[in-house]
Amino acid sequence: MNSVIALIGSGSTALSFIHHYLQQLEAGAALPRTMYLFEKRAAFGSGAAYEADRASNLLNTKTEFITPFIDQPGDFWHWLQTQPALWRHQFPGYTLEADGYAPRPLFGMYLEDRLKALVKRAASLGLNVVQLHAEVLDIQQHGNRQVLNTDCNLRLVADYVFLTCGTLPAKRNNALAEHPHVLNTPYPVSTLPARIPAEAAVGILGARLSAIDAVIALIEQGHRGPITLHSRSGYFPSVRGTQGRIQPRYLSDEYLATLRASKGKLSLQELIALVQKEIMELEGTELRGDFHLPAPPASLENYLQDEIHAAAGPRAWQAALYATNPIIDQLWAALHEEDKQKFLDNYFSAFMAYRVSIPVENARKILRYLQSGQLRFCSGSFGRPQAMDGGLVLRMDGEQIVHHYDYLIQAMGSPRQVGHLESELLSRLLQRGVLQPHPLGGVKIEAHSYCAEGANGQTNPRFRVLGELTTGAFFFTSALDINARHAKRCVEQFATVFTPAAKDIEAAQA
Ligand SMILES: Cc1cc2nc3c(=O)[nH]c(=O)nc-3n(C[C@H](O)[C@H](O)[C@H](O)COP(=O)(O)OP(=O)(O)OC[C@H]3O[C@@H](n4cnc5c(N)ncnc54)[C@H](O)[C@@H]3O)c2cc1C
Repeated sequence: MNSVIALIGSGSTALSFIHHYLQQLEAGAALPRTMYLFEKRAAFGSGAAYEADRASNLLNTKTEFITPFIDQPGDFWHWLQTQPALWRHQFPGYTLEADGYAPRPLFGMYLEDRLKALVKRAASLGLNVVQLHAEVLDIQQHGNRQVLNTDCNLRLVADYVFLTCGTLPAKRNNALAEHPHVLNTPYPVSTLPARIPAEAAVGILGARLSAIDAVIALIEQGHRGPITLHSRSGYFPSVRGTQGRIQPRYLSDEYLATLRASKGKLSLQELIALVQKEIMELEGTELRGDFHLPAPPASLENYLQDEIHAAAGPRAWQAALYATNPIIDQLWAALHEEDKQKFLDNYFSAFMAYRVSIPVENARKILRYLQSGQLRFCSGSFGRPQAMDGGLVLRMDGEQIVHHYDYLIQAMGSPRQVGHLESELLSRLLQRGVLQPHPLGGVKIEAHSYCAEGANGQTNPRFRVLGELTTGAFFFTSALDINARHAKRCVEQFATVFTPAAKDIEAAQA
């Protein structure tokens, strides 16, 4: 038997993985010639973030930059220009703009199309990609073989497993889990009008990108009732300026390596100073006093007005923050362990608000809704929602204030703690100790090889993990280009350690 690998999940990270796998095959690597590609959703390639939905779900990366293929910059932009027949009929209102923000479902169509092409190319290289439309519910190791069980009672055996299962939803774990007026996710947002009556009072838990998608989709589809966004931290995403990409001077591999050679691990203050230095370099200014974390906005309306104004020009601090993408895992690895937890506890919400910005187009819409009075923004922590008098109530912590809603939408994104994720597969693997929770989020892996670390403390050379589940090891895994870079490294590392069976060598030579 030839060796077999299995990819669990077919989103953009799996696509990046296959792309680099084919490159290794083209370069003559004797890798396994059968690849099972599992996907529980209807489509292969688009994953959770870019699934078919309304065009108002926008990418937060410019059209000319976003691509799952890090060695093919501009591939999406090229596809849009050369393949209008594939997409134009579904997005008639979309204007092609290299430095604009395209609809995420349009990007999903591109990913699906590119996957089809990869599967064909794989066949011509002697790799058989078997696409299986099924949810993997369990993986049991028998000797060196991984036995995969699916929701359709399919039982398949692989030699190597790669978890590429991406952004998973939060477990429904409160008394309202099955309440018909509590939505566990806003997606697909195109279905919101069918689930929520137009006059209903809606509370949205969260104030990042999914919450913004939900507000815009509700109102643009005719919702007339009041909508309230609840932000625990009080932060709201910043608005993307006009700057392009920069070549960083301080936030670079080389500079970080020099710094680490002289200092060893860095403190949080030293890391912040590094980012500040890059910003000062870009702005051509001098450091003015110590760094102070920006406070959450006192008025979201005023904040958005200022942000929209500032976004009309280049924003040096955004350019510097985005420049951390290629080395963000190294910055994280450089940080003292105790400072990592401190960062997550004290700075994470602010980091996300400033790092994951929104296009000005969406900021203008949110401002308009606030000004019309239909949308309200409420900051502060709240308890678990409760059902009362036919409606839903949300109590603010430490205050007498109680909010009454007809419907609630959970839009707080994917929890960092793996035990809070809704996945039968993960629950079973964690229960049996095949995977182990990372204290800083996701699961424990060996960062060089991506091999999972089990409860016995041993890394498993037959089980690798990519994407959002590696957040504890790499910190920020919620950007396509970062996951694409990890996919490339993972394939390259696998190719150096994989020992082909005699049959694999024959297949490679055929
Ligand atoms: C709403 C949203 C918007 C985003 N917008 C952007 C953006 O604009 N720009 C950007 O850079 N990043 C964005 N991101 C981050 C994005 O998640 C990553 O950039 C990346 O694309 C994730 O790809 P993935 O393949 O790792 O995960 P996913 O896209 O989540 O794909 C994983 C796939 O695995 C499948 N799966 C999971 N478990 C199983 C199982 N047991 N069996 C079978 N299949 C399974 C899922 O159905 C899913 O299709 C966004 C994320 C979200 C959630």
